[in-house]
Parts: sequence; structure tokens; C-alpha cells
Amino acid sequence: DISLSEQLIELEERYGAHNYHPISAVLDRGQGVYVWDVEGKRYYDFLSAYSAVNQGHCHPRIINALVEQSQKLTLTSRAFYSSMLGRYEEYITNYFGYDRVLPMNTGVEAVETALKLCRKWAYKIKGIPENKAKIIFAGGNFHGRTLSVISASSDPTARNEFGPYMPGFESVEYNNIEALEEALMNDPYVAGLILEPIQGEAGVVVPDDNYLKEAYKLCKASNVLFIADEIQTGIARTGRILAVDYVGIKPDILILGKALSGGVLPVSAVLADDEVMLTIKPGEHGSTYGGNPLACAVAMEALQVVKDENLAENADYLGKIFRAEMQTLVEETSIVTQVRGRGLLNAIVVDSSEDSDLAWDICMKFKENGLLAKPTHGNKIRLAPPLVMIESQMWDCIEIISDVIRSF
Ligand code: PLP
Repeated sequence: DISLSEQLIELEERYGAHNYHPISAVLDRGQGVYVWDVEGKRYYDFLSAYSAVNQGHCHPRIINALVEQSQKLTLTSRAFYSSMLGRYEEYITNYFGYDRVLPMNTGVEAVETALKLCRKWAYKIKGIPENKAKIIFAGGNFHGRTLSVISASSDPTARNEFGPYMPGFESVEYNNIEALEEALMNDPYVAGLILEPIQGEAGVVVPDDNYLKEAYKLCKASNVLFIADEIQTGIARTGRILAVDYVGIKPDILILGKALSGGVLPVSAVLADDEVMLTIKPGEHGSTYGGNPLACAVAMEALQVVKDENLAENADYLGKIFRAEMQTLVEETSIVTQVRGRGLLNAIVVDSSEDSDLAWDICMKFKENGLLAKPTHGNKIRLAPPLVMIESQMWDCIEIISDVIRSF
């Protein structure tokens, strides 16, 4: 006799491509900070679908917006205007302080859109000779899975045997301002720099306080576009609406995804001012589903919930408590060597090599104790609950995490 969970895992094993290695929780329902498996066991969600569910699972207001709009009009394509798109565009550009938005669906599509915009701007405005534009990426980046984006990846697992690769990308070490200066200096063909303000997939790598500001200044001095990929860090996750708000810079191109829909459907966006955005003309870029009425309704509600429920402030407040408690684990155990993060985007580093099973074994024990998290790059465990968590729940989770760590 095998359990329902085991049967469902077996189906995925048998019929699905083997491109993921999930923790063995088979989830069936979610509400707020909780998810339940098919056997009815409840867990705290400490991944939040890689920060897509900042507003909590099945937020009633967002689901209501989804249901209402879905009964009215879901998709028109951009062959026609819709009653929702202009309203959404006005709303989101005011929210983030940009002239214009280009709506897409998944995160990586928005990254691709930003790279295309950057290249158009390079040729039409900066005056780089055609096909010469370069875009600089940081080592350790994660911007998604398309061929051009993995061409700029330094992760062999993401790249290997997917070549040939897209030309026109260069890499500099993350958090190294001298390396960036060298890459920008005297190279008139550099069009853009794309950075994650905190590298999420790399294991929540927080750069030095002055890095982003200095990088931004260097870009301005070299007439290079500063592109911020805030797909994982944005929308209150790090304790501010945007992670770049900590340093008070306004990226030339801002990329959002994930929590833009509160985990309800794929919605992404690229924001920029006129000089950049108006370089792309009708017919030059688009997406069948991009800016669909359903996505517009959901995204507006998802963003409004972030404001109405003060999720950035809550993430800031709970994050400080969380890191302080994790720091005691660093001091009192030999298992956790570091805690790092901002707001509720945090990671602990466990004392092992990247190919050891320790982080995985810890996550399996978290699961037994009612908390779901997943290792990233071997020995780091990202800990990122929905931002609707309340303080008593956080203390509950700190106890689960601490007890599990101390049991190793
Ligand atoms: N950029 C960043 C910083 C991400 O964290 C991710 C996803 O993890 C992506 C881009 C890609 O988003 P998607 O998986 O929706 O294509």
C-alpha cells in the first residue's frame, strides 16, 4: 500500500521531464503562510514559490479580482485595446515612478525584453554601431532559463550542453566595483549593466552597502543603462518596495515578475522612461498574453495589497527578528556558519561543501516538523516566507528551525 503522496510523486516521475528535484511534499491547498499536503499535513511555506507568493497563498482580494475579471474578459491579444490595460499601465507606472511599462508574462521574458530594449537604445540613442553593443552581467547571476539569458550565466548546470551561446554579453565579478570600472572604462560599446540587487538563486548574496550606488554612478558616467532585475527582490520582499530603495537609485530599466501577481498567474513587467521605452516601435516586440485583462486586474490588486497591508514594513520588522535569532545559531552551533539577507529574503549557510547532503537533510527534517524550505547551491538554505506572516507565527517558525538545527 503506497500513500497518495507517493502515488502522485510516482506520476511526476513517470510522465514528467526530469528537470527538477523537489522536496517530497505533495501540496494540495494553500492559505496565507500555510500550505497543506494531500494527506492534510500543514506546513509553513518558507520558499513562497521563490518569492512569488509575497502576499500569501490564495489572498482573498487577489483571488476575487481573478474571479471577477475571469468572468468578464480574459484575453484580447494586443491586436485590440482593452478596458483594463491602460488602467493597469497608469497604475503600475505611478506605483514605481516610471513613464512607461511593457507587460510580459514570465520573469525571463521580461529580462529578454529589457535586454532587447537596451540593445535598441544602444543603436538608436547611444549610437553604438550595429551588432556591436555589449551588456555586462555579474558572475553568479540568475536571470532565468532562455538561451540568451543562460549565455550570460556562470553556472555550469544552467549552461552546459546548451550552446552555442549568444554573443554580446560580458561578465564581471559581483560586488567588485573595480572590476566593473575596468569593464566600463574606455569601452564605448557597452550599452547596459544588469544586476540583481541581491543575488537570490546564488544563495541570497547581499553586496556591500556602497556597491549598487557606485555601480549606478559608473553607469551614469559611461552613458550605460543600469538595469535592475528585481524579479525576486522586488515588491516588498526585502523590506522595501524595491531592494534598490535601500540605496535611493532609480534604475534606467526595472524588471519585475513573480509577486506582481501574488502567485496567481505569470505576470511580469519592464518599466522605463520615454527615452528608453519609446525606442521599440509597433511590431518590434510583443507577446500574445502580455498585458492580458486578467493579468492586469490581478496585478493591480496584488500591488495594492502590498501597500494596504504594509508588507514591506512587516518584512523589514520580521526580518530583523529572524536574522537576530539565526545569528544565535551561528554562535551556538557548528552547523550554521552564516546568516544573510534583507527583509524576509534570507539564507543560512551550513557548514559543508556544496555537494554534501547536509542542507538537503536539514530541509527534509524541516519538512517532518511542518516547515518547507529548499537548499540552493548545495549548502545554502533560502528562508523566505510569505510577507503576510504575523510575529507569533515567525516565533513558531524560529523554534522549528532552531530545534531542527540543534538536533544535527
Ligand atoms: N530573475 C531573477 C532574479 C529570478 O530570481 C528569476 C526566477 O527565479 C528569474 C529572473 C526568472 O523568472 P521566471 O522563472 O519567471 O522566468
